[in-house]
Amino acid sequence: MASKEMYALGSQASVIRDLFAYGQEQAKIVGSEHVFDFSIGNPTVPAPACVKEAMEDMLDTRESVAIHGYTAAAGDAVVRQGLADYMNQTYDAGVKANNFYMTCGAAASLTITLKALVETPQDEVLLVAPFFPEYTVFIHNAGAHEVILPPDTKNFQISMEAMEQAITPHTRAVIINSPNNPAGTVYSADTYTKLAAVLNRKSKEIGHPIYLISDEPYREIIYDGLPILYVPKFYPNTVICYSYSKSLSLPGERIGYILVPDCAADAHHVYTAVCGAGRAMGFVCAPHIFQDVVLKCLGQFSDVKLYDDNRKLLYNGLKDMGYECVYPSGAFYLFVKSPEPDACAFSEKAKKLNLLIVPADSFGCPGYVRISYCVDPDMIRRSFAAFQTLIDQYK
Ligand code: PLP
Repeated sequence: MASKEMYALGSQASVIRDLFAYGQEQAKIVGSEHVFDFSIGNPTVPAPACVKEAMEDMLDTRESVAIHGYTAAAGDAVVRQGLADYMNQTYDAGVKANNFYMTCGAAASLTITLKALVETPQDEVLLVAPFFPEYTVFIHNAGAHEVILPPDTKNFQISMEAMEQAITPHTRAVIINSPNNPAGTVYSADTYTKLAAVLNRKSKEIGHPIYLISDEPYREIIYDGLPILYVPKFYPNTVICYSYSKSLSLPGERIGYILVPDCAADAHHVYTAVCGAGRAMGFVCAPHIFQDVVLKCLGQFSDVKLYDDNRKLLYNGLKDMGYECVYPSGAFYLFVKSPEPDACAFSEKAKKLNLLIVPADSFGCPGYVRISYCVDPDMIRRSFAAFQTLIDQYK
């Protein structure tokens, strides 16, 4: 016998994984050059040279235990101090080594943070649609349930009215994600200012702090010279979940961190609960080699120019054909309105043309599709004929 709940979870593949697997099979039949796979968010820009150099240096100069041995459960103290120095220099964050907990990427950062914050099965965690579908899995794992704010389809920022209405005495936390997967939008300073005002007012009203969990795996993938904003400056009661999966193109290495700044409510308690949650779920001592790699690569990131070029190519190309697209300011996703109300039906029609695009229903935003453009630019160019055939079906 096994847990029914976990069995059910393990049996369901995500729509993204399904499409990706379909693409791999289809490529064997029709040839990979005839399949236009925009399903998955796997970084295609190579990791910067500092990653290889740091690894080679470590292997050449260090003893085995200093490379492969356990670190402290929360991560190596020197690495965490380096992260603190970087955040202080870059964002004037006022943090120290003991505010950081090293993790196996953003997924682990989020599961640990939620487990640390959730107290009772009545606890509610607010999600702003559209959102990364795994959030609901992580929230259920922590023993809470989600409350979903409908998408603000005008500009894909956050509807403050909806936020105000959704908060109840059971609200424990709100998860936000900017730059956003799947919408590609970036929250403005104005959005953060207004959000902070709502959360401060509501925290007072319900008599306990509402934590803001800022999921930031795309923090540095941002275009048009937009500034990167440090969220605790707007709302101090913030826990940051970070990952190097996208910013250093290291999704397979599983490395990231949780930052609980001292300005968060009961910061010491929350940080200690983060350590406890990491321990309870076996997320201790994140991969040693990659803790050291990120230390050596502080301030260096994968070159986003290729993503930026793809962004312009795809956005302009699809707009010219008549698709209604959300202007992407960050991450590497283009969010497109389905020309028919049922985005799943639209995605199925696309699939018949070997065009693999993800209906956004599971992101909490029916009627839209996500097109992941961390792909070869040649594939984007080759896909245009299929995109044209697809939209012509609606004319
Ligand atoms: N959060 C968002 C918004 C993501 O898009 C992803 C991955 O695509 C994750 C979290 C998980 O990232 P990681 O690979 O660091 O676990």
